[in-house]
Amino acid sequence: MESALTARDRVGVQDFVLLENFTSEAAFIENLRKRFKENLIYTYIGSVLVSVNPYKDLEIYSKQHMERYRGVSFYEVSPHLYAIADNSYRSLRIERKDQCILISGESGAGKTEATKKILQYYAVTCPASDQVETVKDRLLQSNPVLEAFGNAKTLRNDNSSRFGKYMDVQFDYKGAPVGGHILNYLLEKSRVVHQNHGERNFHIFYQLLEGGEDDLLRRLGLEKNPQQYHYLVKGQCARVSSISDKNDWKVVRRALSVINFNDNEVEDLLSIVASVLHLGNVQFAADEQGNAQVTTENQIKYLARLLGVEGSVLREALIHKTIIAKGEELVSPLNLEQAAYARDALAKAVYGRTFSWLVNKINKSLAYKVNLSLTFLGLLDIYGFEVFQHNSFEQFCINYCNEKLQQLFIELTLKSEQEEYESEGIAWEPVQYFNNKIICDLVEEKFKGIISILDEECLRPGDATDMTFLEKLEETVKNHPHFLTHKLADQKTRKSLGREEFRLLHYAGEVTYSVTGFLDKNNDLLFRNLKETMCNSENPIINHCFERTELTDKKRPETAATQFKNSLSKLMEILMSKEPSYIRCIKPNDAKQAGRFDEVLIRHQVKYLGLMENLRVRRAGFAYRRKYEIFLQRYKSLCSETWPTWEGRPHDGVAVLVKHLGYKQEEYKMGRTKIFIRFPKTLFATEDALEI
Ligand code: ATP
Ligand code: MG
Repeated sequence: MESALTARDRVGVQDFVLLENFTSEAAFIENLRKRFKENLIYTYIGSVLVSVNPYKDLEIYSKQHMERYRGVSFYEVSPHLYAIADNSYRSLRIERKDQCILISGESGAGKTEATKKILQYYAVTCPASDQVETVKDRLLQSNPVLEAFGNAKTLRNDNSSRFGKYMDVQFDYKGAPVGGHILNYLLEKSRVVHQNHGERNFHIFYQLLEGGEDDLLRRLGLEKNPQQYHYLVKGQCARVSSISDKNDWKVVRRALSVINFNDNEVEDLLSIVASVLHLGNVQFAADEQGNAQVTTENQIKYLARLLGVEGSVLREALIHKTIIAKGEELVSPLNLEQAAYARDALAKAVYGRTFSWLVNKINKSLAYKVNLSLTFLGLLDIYGFEVFQHNSFEQFCINYCNEKLQQLFIELTLKSEQEEYESEGIAWEPVQYFNNKIICDLVEEKFKGIISILDEECLRPGDATDMTFLEKLEETVKNHPHFLTHKLADQKTRKSLGREEFRLLHYAGEVTYSVTGFLDKNNDLLFRNLKETMCNSENPIINHCFERTELTDKKRPETAATQFKNSLSKLMEILMSKEPSYIRCIKPNDAKQAGRFDEVLIRHQVKYLGLMENLRVRRAGFAYRRKYEIFLQRYKSLCSETWPTWEGRPHDGVAVLVKHLGYKQEEYKMGRTKIFIRFPKTLFATEDALEI
């Protein structure tokens, strides 16, 4: 049999806290590499699970595997998603504490796959009953539907989630899932009207065209060929080898009925999908005055039917703008550029609101009515840190979200470490760490935070532009240690900053944002005429999505950034009230290939995921801790006094055992229920003694 020592050489340690050289990033990555080569994609940092996407199907998700992790303590089995899932579930059952599992990582790292695998684990291992089976089905089936409408093929991931998702699963007192609730964040609406080269629009468009029955497509006025639709040809990549739109269509259709859609609702929903495609094909030409005129009457006809609006009203709304000034309505014509802008804004609004409606509809089907002794387990699958060549408003929001999550992580990890020390009666040794609250404040503070200043510029009538926003920013936060612009930078740094850019020093590193488009994206404006037209829609979903109060309300609607900020703050509240577990996902290469371990790419992620910091906090005190019973059970054979059985308290048995093993005083501490060992080498020596 292979000795523990050589096994460690070959497959590394299964918990990073056992790394001798725990401050070395190189050692960290080497350990990941060893394990990855052996298909051991999971490794712990204490109770945090680090996962590396294998890009191939591993035989580790079978029912037998699930059984192996059921009710078993974390350390008795190799690291796995199921261990995290089971551990959370057990705390929920035994301590009746609400739980959440936070999954992070960059695009393509495996967050959504992990979320789905955890849900499957619960679906298989939790108690069953008729009603529960329906809920399990619905929880699982909500996925293909949300993915059809919210996921797309990007350069980074063939099935990239273009929205953030938090899903609460409710359990009854027997531990059976009885309901759920989904919160969605910031759908990337711009994708509806534009895709970069090599990317696609949301899956549902292609699924409908590929899989939709002839009859259905005829009713929707659609042709099978995606090339016909302007909104689908921008990325020049309608087909993707890893995706079968036809099969996925069947899955989605079935899933829709599981989550309670009747035929009429399906038809209404697909009418909207089709109307977005028709909208993309609406064209304009300029008349002699330069005013836009619609040249594609056919499209208007389809749109009128699918959206249940008056064709002529819609046509006029697409080429005019109404402003209410001093109580009077002023109608002015749009030029070509403005009309195209209005059309795209309508397509984005219709799609984005329909997506939110869909989430609501799913929530209704998951809702559990009786509020008796329920506990909750939340799963967060949300975009990781994004640093591209060109970073804009979207990256700004996403990275802000990651700052908030980091803040939560720091607070909760340190808190739980401290609590464990206290409850074990061991003196707390303070840990040095970077508190990123200063960056959160820079973004979100009232009056002088970046979002506040952006909103102010968005509200200011007259000559506000992206550049005036940047100038205001410079004035207000000029001395902030985490903020820089071209003007504020010294000679040397200045070269790396454009005049329309600002740079934030995030906890994970620098990111430079271009302000171009910030005002527009934050305003997320839809001209009044189009709103009004949609309010009169006879399509029940659209009618529901566009409420008349929007037209009469004097108050300006919340800006995109403020909406996001508020929804994040609600999310933090939810997460704060729960006991967290973490899964950190890593993408091993950019080629979506199995077996390739790209060190540079991985080093970046280790940094942006804050893993070294995480390890440092976890190792600040003790590398290893175990309940006395478990420790004794494992090592009792090493001492004649504890072998074969120890009759007294486990605490005393361990005391006898470690004395016999020659542990030095500075190497360990005895808590109330656990032994704490400071250095891995102490444990390894004991571990190796077992082998001899
Ligand atoms: P995004 O932020 O773009 O949504 P993501 O982190 O959700 O990315 P996933 O969609 O979960 O990424 O994973 C991307 C792809 O990687 C999957 O489609 C699958 O092919 C592969 N993959 C991820 N996790 C696993 C796994 N555990 N086993 C096998 N393949 C996996
Ligand atoms: Mg995803």
